[in-house]
Amino acid sequence: MKPTFPQIILKPGKEQSMKRFHPWVFSGAIKLVNGKVDEGDIVTVYSAQNEFLGIGHYQIGSISVRIFSFQNIEPNEAFWKEKLLKAYNLRKALGLVNNDETNVFRLVHAEGDELPGLIIDIYNQTAVMQIHTVGMYLIRELLAKLLKEIMGDRLVAVYDKSSKSVPFKANINAVDSYLIGNTGSTVVSENGMLFKVDWEEGQKTGFFIDQRENRYLLQKYAAGRDVLNMFCYTGGFSFFAMKGGARLVHSVDSSAKAIDLTRENVELNFPSDPRHEAFASDAFEYLRDIKDKYDLIILDPPAFAKHRGAINQALQAYKRINAKAFEQIRPGGILFTFSCSQVVDRERFREAVFSAAAISGRSVRILHQLTQPADHPIGIYHPEGEYLKGLVLYVE
Ligand code: SAH
Repeated sequence: MKPTFPQIILKPGKEQSMKRFHPWVFSGAIKLVNGKVDEGDIVTVYSAQNEFLGIGHYQIGSISVRIFSFQNIEPNEAFWKEKLLKAYNLRKALGLVNNDETNVFRLVHAEGDELPGLIIDIYNQTAVMQIHTVGMYLIRELLAKLLKEIMGDRLVAVYDKSSKSVPFKANINAVDSYLIGNTGSTVVSENGMLFKVDWEEGQKTGFFIDQRENRYLLQKYAAGRDVLNMFCYTGGFSFFAMKGGARLVHSVDSSAKAIDLTRENVELNFPSDPRHEAFASDAFEYLRDIKDKYDLIILDPPAFAKHRGAINQALQAYKRINAKAFEQIRPGGILFTFSCSQVVDRERFREAVFSAAAISGRSVRILHQLTQPADHPIGIYHPEGEYLKGLVLYVE
């Protein structure tokens, strides 16, 4: 028999966004809850007129329910397996499975794969999970098992890295650990360039996969240029610049660990290459004095705004660092500038960069407008899934 779940009844009129397949139910939309509900529980959602709207995971916070199906399905093993299989088949269609040049990709991108709360990144034969909801956290072992069934020999280990991402209010004392196998750090390949990835120690799942196509694009512009890779983390932009024939490359990050990682990765790809140097420094400090030193600058800062309340401050920070680059880049220079703050939308980011350009008074053209790659898909009903924005600018 199909199990019954606690029912969430919405206030009149609040069903509209779910009818347009938006996967979030905000706490303010809820009229009442029938039954006892704990964080992480599966709940069904109904309109005030008692129409079924969807089924999802309950969470304490402003987003109360994350919908994983708009049909009245039974969320059993077969259901989850089908979801993971769809995500896997999409990556196959993108040419990311069995790809000799690239063996690192995002397999599950939360709402973008209709699996809210779940991120899974593939590093060669290891899957790294980063879970953002208690509901997904409770079924992590099942998800790991199903993933292994789907991927077979292509997968030897699954590492759960949710201790910092799962809501701390939940008090579930999440500890990062292997759910299957045990591989340790590994060297992966992205478009033929090698990266050492350490998911146990690194930021996020160990590596910023989402810049793959943008790093590749950078390569085209690097020939003969003096490059500054600001906020370099694992150094990806640096050695794609080197591959593209840069004259010199300076990598900067405030984290000494990131600088070590960058040096290690550059060494993997370009042993003893004198063109590269890395510096541990604060960005605002370093950017103070780079007058005419560079003609290709990458600014890929961390999310300056992690929540709505921080938007204005974040826009100021984007404006400040970009202004420094516009003021000092050599004539004919190229700037790759990014924002990965989900709450700062494309338009506002552009405005911040425009204001920065205006301060410098220089003539600036947009060459490319960049975004996240296809293995980080955006659900058409969930525009919030678009988080990475970038501009490639020509500065006269
Ligand atoms: N461009 C990278 C990802 C950047 S992540 C890639 O392609 O993989 C953001 C990086 O900014 C982190 O490594 C973090 O250590 C660094 N960072 C954060 N605040 C900083 C600051 N004030 N100055 C310099 N680096 C900073």
